[in-house]
Amino acid sequence: MPKLTYCFTCDADQPHRPLSRAEEDWLKERLGRASVREFLMCEAELDSETKKQCRNLRTGMNKKPFARSMRVPLLD
Ligand SMILES: [Zn+2]
Repeated sequence: MPKLTYCFTCDADQPHRPLSRAEEDWLKERLGRASVREFLMCEAELDSETKKQCRNLRTGMNKKPFARSMRVPLLD
């Protein structure tokens, strides 16, 4: 069982994981930053049929690092 941390979008404690390389690259581009290693992505499943995940971003320390919530898009 992964450690649960609070997701602002889900308004509940949910499993999170670090970003993949492709997701890190996407976020670096989006934020114009060299490092985004502190970010975690919510893996809560929103729909059991489509397996769609929340994918909202937080950091280890900050449950709401952006003024508006930011979700990681599905990347190939
Ligand atoms: Zn979530």
